[in-house]
Amino acid sequence: MVNKARCCPICFSAEKVCLYKQNFNNDVISLMDSYDVVVCSNCGFAYADNIPLQSVFDNYYEVMSKYEFNYNEGVVSGDYIDYYTKIANFITPYITDKNAAILDMGCSTGGLLSIFKSGGYSNLLGVDPSPTCVKTANELYDIEAVAGNINSLVGNEKFDVIILSAVLEHLVDYENSMRSVRSLLKNNGLLLIAVR
Ligand SMILES: [Zn+2]
Repeated sequence: MVNKARCCPICFSAEKVCLYKQNFNNDVISLMDSYDVVVCSNCGFAYADNIPLQSVFDNYYEVMSKYEFNYNEGVVSGDYIDYYTKIANFITPYITDKNAAILDMGCSTGGLLSIFKSGGYSNLLGVDPSPTCVKTANELYDIEAVAGNINSLVGNEKFDVIILSAVLEHLVDYENSMRSVRSLLKNNGLLLIAVR
């Protein structure tokens, strides 16, 4: 596995200080043997350095099953429902139109969108790298979901609301990803970012 040194994703400075080297001396993480936690010397942003390329992560999330909840047929635990409910309660006061086009990027098995559906929102779309997650979202909640990543939808419809929940911390290529998100958002649209 080839790991790549990164510039700061925020200010693009190459100057950094290594705080900690995380070694994986086991078989739990097949994606990499180690990575560095560094702080940008210019702006202070802390990020993971010497990690695989975005394409490697894209493939990993496509085939991994950790987020597919297969052990429970796709039904998420109460903890997740609490987390999703918090997100929905935070943003729904700002979404007065029940027909607003809402995109959940990295929708997993559709748990978050199911909360919106219960709240009367009908124009919902989920996108997730895992085809298994997408299929589960369709079957469990009858919610439209498609397999893909953050760049898959660019050039098609635009959305009133885009949600990135537990997604941003998994991306290597912030700049291109956020450019894609921006191009998918309507003027005066809402972007909700949640990281865990
Ligand atoms: Zn920086």
